[in-house]
Parts: sequence; structure tokens; C-alpha cells
Amino acid sequence: MSRLVMKFGGTSVADLERIRRVGRLVAAEVAAGHQVAVVVSAMSGKTNELVAWTDGAGAAAQGLEPSDDEYDVVVASGEQVTAGLLAMTLRNMGLPARSWMGWQIPIVADDAHGRARIDDVPPENLVAAMDSGQVAVIAGFQGVTRDGRIATLGRGGSDTSAVAIAAAVSAIRCDIYTDVDGVYTTDPRIESKARKLSKISYEEMLEMASLGAKVLQTRSVELAMAKNVPLRVLSSFVEPGEAPGQGTIVCDEEEIMEKRIVSGVAYSRDEAKITLY
Ligand code: ADP
Ligand code: ASP
Ligand code: MG
Repeated sequence: MSRLVMKFGGTSVADLERIRRVGRLVAAEVAAGHQVAVVVSAMSGKTNELVAWTDGAGAAAQGLEPSDDEYDVVVASGEQVTAGLLAMTLRNMGLPARSWMGWQIPIVADDAHGRARIDDVPPENLVAAMDSGQVAVIAGFQGVTRDGRIATLGRGGSDTSAVAIAAAVSAIRCDIYTDVDGVYTTDPRIESKARKLSKISYEEMLEMASLGAKVLQTRSVELAMAKNVPLRVLSSFVEPGEAPGQGTIVCDEEEIMEKRIVSGVAYSRDEAKITLY
């Protein structure tokens, strides 16, 4: 039986109605015969709120940086809430499901708090749960250090959690559900003439992400390329079976028949160019 990883970002799980819709999308993949692991982000706005709380608690005044281990304890909590809510929702729909925090799998990360990298994801626990027919609902963005502390993976890090899980459980694909229906030639919220790409290579996607296209965290693309995990970026704002939103496939260059010279344009809001004569 094939394994599939589905990842849902903050706007896709922003309230209970959206979480129920995520439940329906998960149920459709289970009905299609997949063993499913779902990776979730915090509900939209939650991580920003948690970050502000760490400032309010005096992290800055005490000279503590976002790299502090207690910062990670606070900001990782948003994903725990969503994972529990989605697991409950799935159970209410009659699907066996359970939530998994980073330390329970474990997702082993280094101790660069606030921007940790994943070192290892032993697959045994997840695979055993998935083989038993349970949907694994995983809190994204978080791992555990070798000395047992919670570590977060940098903003947008749930994408990287999802790819790491997909590689660990040998998933056929990692589907990144978000609030746009694929990867565009540039940010469709900024440029209305942006065109959706049906396929893009890992290399091109890596370049776009590292130049600021936040639709995928740069590290998630690096990892997908290194582990050869096919990615699909697609909208979560559809019901199962609605207009076949195929999204954008991110894959090896060889699998893309028609080569483009320029795939897209990325931008950075906080840079300016000054020319002196
Ligand atoms: P999520 O919460 O699902 O992780 P993000 O906000 O991190 O979603 O990423 C999705 C956003 O990425 C879109 O709303 C869009 O504004 C932005 N984006 C930037 N560049 C692109 C691009 N080239 N194609 C699609 N979306 C892009
Ligand atoms: N919740 C985290 C963030 O807002 C991680 C993620 O959404 O991928 O950065
Ligand atoms: Mg994101």
C-alpha cells in the first residue's frame, strides 16, 4: 500500500470549519487506498502571536534571542493545538487517527534553536502506526534535540517537516496544501498576470524559494531534491472531488518535457538598489 504525506499550512487550518475540510481531504486519500501522514502548521496568525508573547515575557530584555531554547518551547505549541484538533476531527469522522509531536516520533534536530536542522527521522514508530491503518497527524515545525529539548525549524518550517517525514516513510509524494493553487511564475498575490506552472524542477524551485518565494521553505526544497521526494503544491480550499486541482509538481528536471528558459520571478520586500555615479 502506498504512503502519502499531506501538509496543511496556517490558513488551511485557520478555524474549525477549515480543519473539517482538511479532514475531508484526508478521508478522500484514505478512501483512495493511501496510508496517510498529515503534517500541520499552527492556525494562521498563531505563531506570530506566540513570538510576540516571547517578546512580552522579556526575552529581549533578558538578552535572550529567538535562538533560545525556551523561545522554541513557546512557539512550537501552536502546531500541537492543530495536530490535536485535526486528530479529533478525523476520529469524529470515523477514521482512526492520532497526533504525534516531534519528540514522540522522534524528529531529531540539532540545537540551533529557532532555526534547527533535522538530523534524523527514524521511521519505525510512524510506519507501525500507518501500517495499522491509523492516520498519523504530525505537528510540523518542531523537532527534539539529542538532549531532549524542543527545537523549531525556522519560519515556514512545516514544509521541511513534511518532506523529512515523506523521505523517512518512503512516501510516493509529499502534497503541500496551501492558500494558492500551485507555484506561479511570481507571487500571484502581488502580480495578477502571474501564470501557474504545472511542473517545475527542484533546481528552479530552489532558486525561487531562496530568492523569497515563500510558498515553500528553501530547506524543504533542498531536502526534497536530496532525497528525491516528488512534491505537489496545491490549494486546500476545495472539496474532495471538486475541479481537479492538480497544482504544481516539483520534480527532477528529466521529468519535465518542455524546458523553459525563465520559470519565474521572485522578489524581496526588504531590499533596495542604489546606483552611485
Ligand atoms: P502556508 O501557510 O500554507 O505555508 P505560505 O503563506 O507560507 O502558506 O505560502 C503561500 C504564499 O506564498 C501564497 O499565499 C503566496 O502569496 C506566496 N507566494 C510567493 N511566491 C509565490 C509563487 N511564486 N507562487 C505561489 N505562491 C507564492
Ligand atoms: N507555524 C510556523 C510559522 O508560522 C511554521 C509553518 O507555518 O510552516 O512559521
Ligand atoms: Mg509556509
